[in-house]
Amino acid sequence: MKISVDRLNDSPASFCFEADANWWRLALATGSGFPGEITEPVRFRCVAQRIGSELHLEGGVDGVVELECGRCLARYCHGFNESFRFVLEPAGNRVPADPEGAAALSRDGLCLGDELETGWFRGSEIHLGPIFVELVSLALPMKPLCREDCPGLCARCGANLAVAGCDCEQIGSDSPFAVLAGIRDDLVRGGN
Ligand SMILES: [Zn+2]
Ligand SMILES: [Zn+2]
Repeated sequence: MKISVDRLNDSPASFCFEADANWWRLALATGSGFPGEITEPVRFRCVAQRIGSELHLEGGVDGVVELECGRCLARYCHGFNESFRFVLEPAGNRVPADPEGAAALSRDGLCLGDELETGWFRGSEIHLGPIFVELVSLALPMKPLCREDCPGLCARCGANLAVAGCDCEQIGSDSPFAVLAGIRDDLVRGGN
């Protein structure tokens, strides 16, 4: 996942990288905290161009990962897609103020600011691997849900309400609590 800076010129050059399940596990191991397993290689696309002394890069990452729903615990496939666009200027003799950025600049040949829109590069090669890892973590949901309105599991019998209802629901509507909830609803409506 590296690009030779010396070969870039003012006509856009396309790059494609594929990352397999091994890469995913490795990214997991480095503490990026990727959940689940990918079911097919993750694809990274990048178009790079030199404009004056700057490097302009844009592209995206897409893939499918199998996640566990936070409510019903079912495994489901989550497709993700995240795009990026940033401009790098030659670092020259400058050193990034933050240690992480300084390390990235000497290790990967580039570092990006917080917004991932601008940054610096140095040397003849830039390694995009760490940025792709960051893009993937941005693209993954904080709270995986098999669907927006997943009802989850029944608190009483543990049935998966996303698949089928359970008898608890019917008992529930007759319970004193359901009656109270009805009264509360009336009060709320009356208050308006
Ligand atoms: Zn669910
Ligand atoms: Zn139930």
